[in-house]
Amino acid sequence: MNEYIDGFAGECPVCHSNSLDYGHVKDCDGGVCYAWRCEDCGSTGEEVYEINFIHQTVLTRW
Ligand SMILES: [Zn+2]
Repeated sequence: MNEYIDGFAGECPVCHSNSLDYGHVKDCDGGVCYAWRCEDCGSTGEEVYEINFIHQTVLTRW
């Protein structure tokens, strides 16, 4: 059962340590998830980021 906590990026939502060890990145929940493991309390989780469209950049025009 996943537990959703608002929390802060870069901070363990369980013990509030800033010692997060980041692992892989994957697509999830319509955004991007960064997996982490807290080096202080051993909890694991994922930071979920939303991807927002900003603008188009044309690199090569045909
Ligand atoms: Zn922790």
